Amino acid sequence: MAYFNGKKEPPPQVETPVWSCTGENCAGWMRENFTFEETPSCPLCHAEMKKETRTLPQIP
Ligand SMILES: [Zn+2]
Repeated sequence: MAYFNGKKEPPPQVETPVWSCTGENCAGWMRENFTFEETPSCPLCHAEMKKETRTLPQIP
């Protein structure tokens, strides 16, 4: 059942594992959940990525 009451609560912030680009001056990163490779490369500059944890809005 979907319902809308006009109020939208912000999603909770959770510690989320992410891949972060190691390239200098590159802000590329992506959620680990959204990657399908064991060691993805940066979608922006194709550099190696390292695992990090970030506090991000939770995705249901
Ligand atoms: Zn990069």
